[in-house]
Amino acid sequence: MLEKIVIANRGEIALRILRACKELGIKTVAVYSTIDRALKHVLLADETICIGPPPATHSYLNIPAIISAAEITGSSGIHPGYGFLSEDADFAEQVERSGFVFIGPCSETIRLMGNKISAITIMKESGIMPVPGWNYELNKNINKDFSNFSYQHLHINYPIIIKSAHGGGGRGMCVVRKESDLQDAIQMIRTEAKNMFNNDTIYVEQYLENPRHIEIQVLSDGQGNIIYLTERDCSIQRRHQKIIEETPALGISSEMRQYMGESCVKICYKIGYRGVGTFEFLYENNEFFFIEMNTRIQVEHPITEMITGIDLIREQLKIASGYTLDIKQDAVTSEGHAIECRINAEDSHNFIPSSGHITRFHAPGGLGVRWESHIYSGYSVPPYYDTMIGKLICFGKTRDIAIARMKNALSELIIDGINTNIELQLKIITDEVFQKGREINIHYLKNKLNI
Ligand code: ADP
Repeated sequence: MLEKIVIANRGEIALRILRACKELGIKTVAVYSTIDRALKHVLLADETICIGPPPATHSYLNIPAIISAAEITGSSGIHPGYGFLSEDADFAEQVERSGFVFIGPCSETIRLMGNKISAITIMKESGIMPVPGWNYELNKNINKDFSNFSYQHLHINYPIIIKSAHGGGGRGMCVVRKESDLQDAIQMIRTEAKNMFNNDTIYVEQYLENPRHIEIQVLSDGQGNIIYLTERDCSIQRRHQKIIEETPALGISSEMRQYMGESCVKICYKIGYRGVGTFEFLYENNEFFFIEMNTRIQVEHPITEMITGIDLIREQLKIASGYTLDIKQDAVTSEGHAIECRINAEDSHNFIPSSGHITRFHAPGGLGVRWESHIYSGYSVPPYYDTMIGKLICFGKTRDIAIARMKNALSELIIDGINTNIELQLKIITDEVFQKGREINIHYLKNKLNI
């Protein structure tokens, strides 16, 4: 087992990783920015190293500082969590070259799947369908000659969506509904992509009007043992960012589940995948269309853990330590239903991020209720990072029970001193359409609340 690792992240995921390390007897090094001294995992880690001032570019994205922290502390591995450097192939490569274990796939795989054009191409070659109208030549050409690109090259009808090939977090995409908007949209996304992802490569695909977002979790030890786990439905989104996730997805037959799962496993074999990973799809009219692969642990991983009983971070750490995956596909069971509500420090109505001192805090509890968060009474939420400050996960034998528990848990959760989206989450969880579940798609929030 790895003896000591650097947790190159902050917030709830850093604490989650720390807990798994403690269970496995792995020593931990917390690296933190100057404003994060009082973070829960920093207080609990075996060793701590300050890596810079609050802006992420100076701390959590500061590659030399993080690798130096591993060096100084005699660590053997680095866990990137999600966000920050977790899908940065250059970081993974530098970690590998410096002689440390990157807790994730190898840098080549991250690079391959990090470019959505190459990821989609690999999928298509292996029989996993991208969104209809996907055309490799078209997307090569659009990047060669933007200004002459027009409807006649498209081979698909409007609406289309223009996306950044290296995008993430729901950013760097734009829906175009008519020809007169095409050139402006291309320019806008190229500029945004260059600024945000340091790469202006774009691509075009059909914009689906009413899909659901369904994703499949895989686990691979890089030694030929690969499994898939029950799919997650992440259709409740605001501006392409997930707010509520649940598993299993309603209406997916066991045959379809098996077919899609096995298809993802085949791709993992093909690309020599190692670690945890997620294949993301849009699902419309009973068909799955691949959109991207995330080569890291995801925010919503706990719902999968709740229904399968598999500790994904523990498995991630074991795989990185060289263990073979000892869970066989036949032994994977899935029981009940789990839902996660992301708790964000933002106003429930206008979504303006909120920061500051938490004056009063109470975490919910009860059977089937899991609270993943780093916050506590007296903790100050800094204004520099992602607004997500916690995740409330509820499990039940049935979806109805999970929903009933979520309603109780959200009502019990007290976070005073800052604005949060608890009220919005309660509104969704108690909504009849959500409770019935059948009419949910990615536009649910826009249609219902116009947000
Ligand atoms: P990111 O990497 O930024 O998360 P994704 O490609 O995973 O981007 O897409 C995020 C979300 O954007 C999807 O869950 C979906 O809501 C929306 N989206 C992406 N592509 C399409 C599409 N072709 N049609 C309709 N919605 C889309």
